[in-house]
Amino acid sequence: MSEVKQRVGRDTPEELASSVLNGNRRSLSRLISWAENGAPGFPAALAGIYHATGGAWRVGITGPPGAGKSTLVNELAHKLREHGDHHVGILAVDPSSPFTGGALLGDRIRMDELTGDAKVYIRSMASRKAHGGMARAGVDACDVMDAYGMDRILIETVGVGQAEYDVMGACDTVVVVMCPGAGDGIQAMKAGILEVADVLVVNKSDLPGSDRLYNDLVEAAHVRAARPAAAGHHGASSPASAPVAAPDQAALDPNHWEVPVVLASAGRGKGILGEASVLEAISNHRAYLEATGLESARQAKRAKQVRRIVDDELDRRVWNRPELEERVAAALRGGATSYDIARELVVDLIDGLVAGSSAGQEADGRSQGNTA
Ligand code: GDP
Repeated sequence: MSEVKQRVGRDTPEELASSVLNGNRRSLSRLISWAENGAPGFPAALAGIYHATGGAWRVGITGPPGAGKSTLVNELAHKLREHGDHHVGILAVDPSSPFTGGALLGDRIRMDELTGDAKVYIRSMASRKAHGGMARAGVDACDVMDAYGMDRILIETVGVGQAEYDVMGACDTVVVVMCPGAGDGIQAMKAGILEVADVLVVNKSDLPGSDRLYNDLVEAAHVRAARPAAAGHHGASSPASAPVAAPDQAALDPNHWEVPVVLASAGRGKGILGEASVLEAISNHRAYLEATGLESARQAKRAKQVRRIVDDELDRRVWNRPELEERVAAALRGGATSYDIARELVVDLIDGLVAGSSAGQEADGRSQGNTA
């Protein structure tokens, strides 16, 4: 905490914002730390850079451990640098483990080749530090990288749990990486994976079993695409009233994204760029979103971020008051049920909010704007 305060004390949010816009890399890192730590100055700094965001394409990369996500991210970054001179940001987030934190990128030796490149920025984040949740901090970090001038942001998550899905939900294109040999786990995960995936990658195509996995996933994606409700996550418009289309028709419908399955071997640099590659599938998905309404798709994702911030802020303001805990304890001693106590508290809190009570704000020493 004191570290956060010191950092806030060194730079004003306005100074940090303009320094990020001017391309100062240290300021970039510092502002991402503010985002990560939930520093009080972050909202004001974001307000100073927000107009410069929107240029980056945010690609989420998820999938089970060992599928080859970091190998793929590394390959994608190399190809994006070599072809098109893109400015690439890489955010590795680990929502599940409180332990791997700082070491997340430490063992990714091949990525070191990228770190000497001024147009590649690599950053890791762990839940241990992310105040108020990984997804909130991840979106904020992407906004900072976006405003800094990166035009491609690769967000890699470890694992395939709810927190990872939440992080992925904020990306423009979600790539789910699988590999042969993961056994029954694949079956169990298929439904959930298709829920979040815009692009499916069968990595390790050099290994036996990859063709079978590929065929399985193509089939699953096809079946799913035939269901009209399936477009919800992938596109701006979800034509709820659309007739049930036969699979072939679905493939022709411009409002319908049928998740492509790409065979790749990240370890050998195959299937990354060119025909039927991961980058081609990402760029097709981008074209699809741009044709069907990118702004509304992004706005829906942004609305979720508002909700995360509200939840976080309410949680802080409500529970930052010791008298509330005492009140709960007293009510429990008196024999009230948790539901009764909770209902009474919610009614009181909402009454207080409606009446414009500033009790919460007064008690919250960390309230926004207190950044001097
Ligand atoms: P992550 O846990 O999903 O990030 O997976 P990694 O990128 O760390 O890769 C896990 C292992 O798979 C590593 O030993 C990689 O060298 C290996 N690997 C990655 N891509 C390929 C590939 O295309 N073929 C083969 N055979 N192995 C690969």
